[in-house]
Amino acid sequence: MPELPEVETVRIGLEKYLVGDVFKTVQVLREQSVGYPSVTKFTKGLARKEVISVERRGKYLLIHLDSKAGLGVHLRMSGRLIVADKKHKPAEFLRINIKLESGRDLRFEDMRVFGRMWYVPPGETFEDIIPALTLLGPEPLGKDLTAKYLLEAVKGRKQAIKTALLDQTLIAGLGNIYADEVLFQTGIHPLSSAGTMTKPDAEKLVVAIKKTLKQAIELGGSSLKDYTDSQGVNGKYQHSAWVYGRAKQPCRVCGEPIERIKLVGRSAHFCSNCQTKMRGRPTK
Ligand SMILES: [Zn+2]
Repeated sequence: MPELPEVETVRIGLEKYLVGDVFKTVQVLREQSVGYPSVTKFTKGLARKEVISVERRGKYLLIHLDSKAGLGVHLRMSGRLIVADKKHKPAEFLRINIKLESGRDLRFEDMRVFGRMWYVPPGETFEDIIPALTLLGPEPLGKDLTAKYLLEAVKGRKQAIKTALLDQTLIAGLGNIYADEVLFQTGIHPLSSAGTMTKPDAEKLVVAIKKTLKQAIELGGSSLKDYTDSQGVNGKYQHSAWVYGRAKQPCRVCGEPIERIKLVGRSAHFCSNCQTKMRGRPTK
């Protein structure tokens, strides 16, 4: 699943290769991939629009077009968004293809069809069309994510700290891999009750979140050889991961085997020897 560093890497690629280009024609191969509005309005609305800028909010890509229109994208489980030359053959799972004036294509490929593209008509905002945007917490790399904010936000929460960190209304875009990694780096057990967080815990967590995501984005950025190559950031990160994907392997600090448990439908990786702080167990 693409996590924040991968979505940011896609954003950087789009900013480089898409801004200034113009959507010529839009072809929808799978109706389900269009989140808003109808296929006809989507293709008509996007045609002949110039790309002005590309932003990211959480794991959403917000492509600003001329006439104050927009194109919102969420890659979900298996989506890919690439700017490709004709010589690159489209993948089997091409769902939406936008032909560009430069002769390239903007391709939305998505094997599992959970990803979405939304057309934002002039006069409307991304938040009007994608209401989930209004519920997102602060950007992990932005100035609004502070220790003070985090401490306040988890106050009274009895859920596991790992579950709280994955809550997109608490922090936008922090996913499973990086939540495991920051908890290891701060020595916090993933099952600790979120509400037992202390000020030093919050300070360490915020530093670890920003540092880890920045490192992963740099890893992705450096792997961006061309605009078709914006995948696999998480894969690269995992080679150097502390705990994620390392069940039963020795902890890089103490040598004890890394444990893997199920936590609300996701996997959590940790070292029960190194991660002992905030040990108050959640009540549910
Ligand atoms: Zn350890």
